[in-house]
Amino acid sequence: MVKFCCAFGCNEKFIKGGPITFHSFPKDETRRKLWESKLKRENFKATNYSRICSRHFSEDCFEREKLGGTWLKKDAVPTIFDFPSHLKTEDNENKAPEKRIILKRENSFEGKEMCNLGST
Ligand SMILES: [Zn+2]
Repeated sequence: MVKFCCAFGCNEKFIKGGPITFHSFPKDETRRKLWESKLKRENFKATNYSRICSRHFSEDCFEREKLGGTWLKKDAVPTIFDFPSHLKTEDNENKAPEKRIILKRENSFEGKEMCNLGST
């Protein structure tokens, strides 16, 4: 079964051995409701098959010491989402390339030949 992330705007798919891990919703009703509210999706109801990927949890939500993969802490709550209201501000830095004018100096020497004709 292909696992998809149910978070808004997230298209992560489960890749075996990939850096993204998928987590099922808490069985506890209160915490499940909390997660659902965090998702901010209208009429969203988490099922036992709903999965959310590790991108939406901050680093301190994980217990990486545990064997057998990445585990969420019992009180972990997803907090990182790409909501449309969070418009990303793009930095438009128009940096004009520096123009360097290299002045070339040409030193030309005029060699003058003096012809001294023998006088009488
Ligand atoms: Zn996701």
